Amino acid sequence: MPRLSEVIAALDALWPPARAEQWDAVGTVCGDPDAEVRGVLFAVDPVQQIADEAVELGVQLVVTHHPLYLRGTTTVAAGHFKGRVVHTLIKNDIALHVAHTNADSADPGVSDALAAALGLKVVGPLVPDPTDPSGRRGLGRICEPEHPETLAAFAERAAHRLPATAQGIRLAGDPDAQVRTVAVSGGSGDSLFDAVRAAGVDAFLTADLRHHPASEATEHSPLGLVDAAHWATEWPWCAQAAAQLDEISDRHGWDLRVHVSSTVTDPWSSHTASLSSSPGAPN
Ligand SMILES: [Zn+2]
Repeated sequence: MPRLSEVIAALDALWPPARAEQWDAVGTVCGDPDAEVRGVLFAVDPVQQIADEAVELGVQLVVTHHPLYLRGTTTVAAGHFKGRVVHTLIKNDIALHVAHTNADSADPGVSDALAAALGLKVVGPLVPDPTDPSGRRGLGRICEPEHPETLAAFAERAAHRLPATAQGIRLAGDPDAQVRTVAVSGGSGDSLFDAVRAAGVDAFLTADLRHHPASEATEHSPLGLVDAAHWATEWPWCAQAAAQLDEISDRHGWDLRVHVSSTVTDPWSSHTASLSSSPGAPN
């Protein structure tokens, strides 16, 4: 059985913490480096439901994409919801490790898993990491569908292939426009519009698109926008990461049990389509 420190060293080799963005908070949140690890759970969000799932599964390590404390804290008291997560984990000898923007920019990274889930061929990174001589690391991915398809068909593909959430898929642009090249970025992607425009792709699939960046992007050029739930765009990474750790476990003879949580932790829990008539329409 490996010790936590050995498993973390393997994870850090996949997603070196030094490659995380400056503002990020990646790495081990809690856990004893000398503790033995027999089981690992991968999830997107370090929320109470996931901590409870880890206890039920009897794993000794939870690896999440999102940090528990992005901006630091002065308390882990169990009266606070984040402190409760820490207490649940520590009381049950479970470590928590975070791979966030260091997993985004990795090769393979979060957007490679998203592209694979969508059945797209990756051409290269949307924002290449200048320190990578191979030109494969970086934020987002530029991709091609196997055959050109309409924007509406591309959105439908996302609706079928990404895990179900209350939000579903939102679409901006001409649904009949042809999609030959696509940019994809797991998580909030509206800071990437400059790179998306520079890449000259037909469509951009990401999450959390806001009114102004989306409005300006579609006014600027005939770019199709496909907006999925944040959780749904990052969840495919969990299975990719689990497979990577499985392979490492086999190589070292660790015999780890590696799980992927299928709990939907997207905060949006239901969706109601507008039921009123459009402004100005006769009643
Ligand atoms: Zn995210």
